[in-house]
Amino acid sequence: MNQTDTTDTPISMDDLMALCKRRGFIYQASEIYGGINGFWDYGPLGAQLKRNLADAWWNDVIMMGCSGRTGPNGKPVRIVPLDTCIIQNPKVWEASGHVGGFNDPMVDCRETKSRYRADHLMVLREAGASEGRGYAFMENDEEQLARAMKLLGKYLRKDIAESDVSVTPLVSLPKEQIADLVGPGVKDPGTLTEPRAFNLMFKTYIGATATEDDVAYLRPETAQGIFINFKNVIDTMRVRVPFGIANIGTSFRNEVTPRNFTFRSREFEQMECEFFCHPSESREWYEFWRDYRMDWWESIGLKGDNLRLREHDEDELAHYAKEGAGTADVEYRYPFTYPDFGELEGVADRANFDLTSHQTASRAKMEFFDQERNERYVPHCIEPAAGLSRGVLAVLCEAYTPDPNRPSKVFMKFHPRLAPIKAAVFPLVNKEGMPEIAEKLHADLHQRFGRRGFVELDVKQNIGKRYARMDEAGTPFCFTIDGDTSSDHAVTVRHRDTLEQERIGLDAVGEWLEGKLGG
Ligand code: ATP
Repeated sequence: MNQTDTTDTPISMDDLMALCKRRGFIYQASEIYGGINGFWDYGPLGAQLKRNLADAWWNDVIMMGCSGRTGPNGKPVRIVPLDTCIIQNPKVWEASGHVGGFNDPMVDCRETKSRYRADHLMVLREAGASEGRGYAFMENDEEQLARAMKLLGKYLRKDIAESDVSVTPLVSLPKEQIADLVGPGVKDPGTLTEPRAFNLMFKTYIGATATEDDVAYLRPETAQGIFINFKNVIDTMRVRVPFGIANIGTSFRNEVTPRNFTFRSREFEQMECEFFCHPSESREWYEFWRDYRMDWWESIGLKGDNLRLREHDEDELAHYAKEGAGTADVEYRYPFTYPDFGELEGVADRANFDLTSHQTASRAKMEFFDQERNERYVPHCIEPAAGLSRGVLAVLCEAYTPDPNRPSKVFMKFHPRLAPIKAAVFPLVNKEGMPEIAEKLHADLHQRFGRRGFVELDVKQNIGKRYARMDEAGTPFCFTIDGDTSSDHAVTVRHRDTLEQERIGLDAVGEWLEGKLGG
């Protein structure tokens, strides 16, 4: 973990967010109008970073069939893509259970007008007290916890230590105790409401009349687009179980408490795959996907202590999961979850829950006739569901590397495959034939690598400042043309991570960079 290499504390989210703004990775949506809570725009570098991550997933998972791995059946893995609508017939969301069940319990504060996910609120009390006054705070929010400790101390009229208090989840309390709680940012008890179910789907209306009959929903996940097209894909492609269908795109959830930068947004992108297999083979395919997805996130640069694979306990399993069915999360240790982890991708054995639900609701047959087995069945399904936006955030957190010895004091250590700027070309000074050589090299590199990311030409300011800009942008290699270049036909390449400099032939730069970028 680069952020704990030197110190064992996480990077500051404020610093990361400031860099994201300064260098054009992520901006607050509608910023000039004061923003809009839970929505984020990607700037030029962020847009390209996100595209590179999505392309890596598309190429590795879909086109290369799990990076060319052999499946547990000893054969190559077949996955086909789909691109489905954000708005579908509302019956899709009734059948999938989202209309009836996609609810988060929420608690409102009547005084501050803040809204909280009830399952994210914790209650601080004097150790041993199971009722009476308590102080609510958001889990993992150190500031709110510190404030709650202070208020409890004042209330009890004594200095309190951690050993004097107990912390319990708010949802575990009897409802009548909610009135005794002091909400975050409030001084007196009684401002919090009891938890109420809140449907997370955004509603809209189709057509001009906008009556309740015209209600439609913005999709809260991309996965259902796959299930409802299962039959179409079987009928139009020469696919046979086991095979997968993948879908990537924007999803919307009216999150009760959007927070932690882009981690919990109301509009975000997902990269989901449904892998269909024979019911008797679901365990081995589940294990295959779980391990592959962990390895994949490692392969694009999330390494070490910050990444982990966590199998769910039996009591965490979703309502559709059969006993013994696997569910695991690939988790990243974000600075705001530190020392804990936050979900990046869920891998779940969903049995035949979704296909069967749609079969029952739509009466379309979701069966597959397996010629090899001479058997007709509704396939089981393994779902690796990843967040593209959360992936970008993890990549940004992982890349952020403080370095007091550089002019920029920080550099972004992106995997070269993801880096939005692949290379930069600098003439040392803007005269003596150097700009012309730089322009020619820039044009060549742009021609060759422009499909994968930016190649920048920068002629302004002293070389140190230009390097500093590129360090913050996470550009892996900078090529400098100097006074010797016209005679020795060589340039100096500077490595972002090691600051090492080496001299390479002007004509060899393209080949050299090709070898370094990968992907
Ligand atoms: P959480 O428990 O964090 O709300 P979830 O378990 O509801 O997430 P899934 O429904 O499994 O999430 O969605 C798959 C992936 O989509 C998640 O692993 C995450 O990366 C991403 N995702 C879900 N909700 C959001 C959100 N509000 N903002 C950004 N990404 C999200």
